Amino acid sequence: MSDALLPSADDAYSSPDAQGFYGPYGGTFVPETVMPALAELSEAYESAMQDAAFRERLSYLLAEYVGRPSPLYKAERLAEAVGLGAVYLTREDLNHTGAHKINNSLGQCMLAQRMGKRRVIAETGAGQHGVATATAAALLGLECAVFMGVEDIRRQSLNVYKMKLLGAEVVPVDEGGGTLADATTAALRHWVERVEDTFYVIGSTVGPHPYPAIVRGFQCVIGEETLVQLEVKNIDHVDAVIACVGGGSNAIGMFYPFLRHLPAGSRPLLIGAEAAGLGVETDKHGAALTKGTPGVMHGFYSYLLQDDAGNPLEAYSISAGLDYPGVGPEHGSLKDSGLVRYEAVTDADALEAFVLLTRTEGIIPAIESSHALALLPRLAAELGPDAVLVLNVSGRGDKDMDIVREAGVE
Ligand SMILES: *Cc1c(COP(=O)(O)O)cnc(C)c1O
Repeated sequence: MSDALLPSADDAYSSPDAQGFYGPYGGTFVPETVMPALAELSEAYESAMQDAAFRERLSYLLAEYVGRPSPLYKAERLAEAVGLGAVYLTREDLNHTGAHKINNSLGQCMLAQRMGKRRVIAETGAGQHGVATATAAALLGLECAVFMGVEDIRRQSLNVYKMKLLGAEVVPVDEGGGTLADATTAALRHWVERVEDTFYVIGSTVGPHPYPAIVRGFQCVIGEETLVQLEVKNIDHVDAVIACVGGGSNAIGMFYPFLRHLPAGSRPLLIGAEAAGLGVETDKHGAALTKGTPGVMHGFYSYLLQDDAGNPLEAYSISAGLDYPGVGPEHGSLKDSGLVRYEAVTDADALEAFVLLTRTEGIIPAIESSHALALLPRLAAELGPDAVLVLNVSGRGDKDMDIVREAGVE
């Protein structure tokens, strides 16, 4: 894999400003004591990205360990079933550990190593980011602790076991609802106390600056590869590019290179699918962009599901990777500017799309990715039967078998 696929240090488009703001969103809403650590992290990231040896090693591991580049697969039976001209799937599900998360965990663990930190911590909900980080830590010989809510530990026992096998300590968090938001709060608090020897590996484009920019930097290999493969396949026109949005890392990893390299007039429609859960008119969803209002959580300002006092609400989705009450700040800015469109997809529609991809292509997707797939029929109606779409299959569905079975899919 060519080193040119990694972001350069002087990216211009929508890079946050010096204070880490994307329009009004982002920033660093953290205790004063953490500011030096964030500044140190910014410097380390910038210097790593300008270091040919670091980039070469990351490229090498992405190719030989993660299994990149991910194929851009033409899903012909799927396209026919939904009535579209062509649907190309980016196969992040084929990565080692089964999703896009390893791209970021590996990059951040390499940064930790470069900064001389022997220990990494991470937060996890379903356990996917925890497993990816424990994997990268094992590879690089780093100590690893993963903060996880007690409710999630109960629901995701297989991933808990995997993390332990990989040598990580799983730290139970029993505050709040015992889910992802609580685990994130606990991990941030722990980082404040152990910042000298500990690196906090954040799992999505969230958290205080510079994290959203760093995670984007490590994930935009998805979109960079897609652009290269479209060119290799001589596909010179794409109508829309779709990805699901939890915190927003696989989506920004796909969208950012399109925004950066293509002029507005020649850009495909970029669409993010967030979780509508049982419906955005209920209080059981994770649609922060569709239904949220701007507020501060976990060190950054963005769209957020919150009560009147500004406390984050419990988000809900059938997919554990999408049930976060906030969303990355860059997505807030992209929504406001209209550069990206966001739509909400219910559990039921996601499950239907899950079955459709499984049956038409023999690819069992993650339920998160199924939210993006559920937009295909809508887009066929909007864009017509000749439209060409690219969709990011962010992960595979192995982790979701129990949930799908419990939902009655057979
Ligand atoms: C975690 C996860 C997501 C959601 O995270 P983003 O940061 O929004 O990408 C989506 N798909 C899969 C497979 C995941 O594991």
